[in-house]
Amino acid sequence: GLPPYDPQNIFARILRGEIPCKRVHEDEFALAFHDINPLTPTHVLVIPKGEYVSAADFHGSADDAAIAGFWRAVGKVARDLGLEGSGYRILSNMGPDGGQEVPHFHVHLFGGRRLGRMMP
Ligand code: 5GP
Repeated sequence: GLPPYDPQNIFARILRGEIPCKRVHEDEFALAFHDINPLTPTHVLVIPKGEYVSAADFHGSADDAAIAGFWRAVGKVARDLGLEGSGYRILSNMGPDGGQEVPHFHVHLFGGRRLGRMMP
């Protein structure tokens, strides 16, 4: 499986306020901020506050509130950024085969232009 959670990963440091970010939303469960290297006109990362490396780290009912809060934040960010009008893409990379660079679970929100079809 993927490595255990590394509390020194860059998103953990952003969550602790040790590294600045361009924040677009924060609540009890999630933090959203602009990607430092935007690939589309809108490129925002949404991360849960819990220590999850991948989707498989959401275990059982203990994490239900965290999961719900996280996805509620994703939807709110998409709405607040105006992405619901013409559409956008959510993407999450996990592990080496998934091309994940930062080992704290996150979703990318891409939007602001016609993205075309990208599968996978
Ligand atoms: P992934 O792990 O999904 O492959 O990509 C991680 C993303 O985090 C990349 O798009 C990268 O540009 C972004 N990123 C890496 N370090 C930082 C940082 O310090 N600040 C911000 N805002 N984004 C970062």
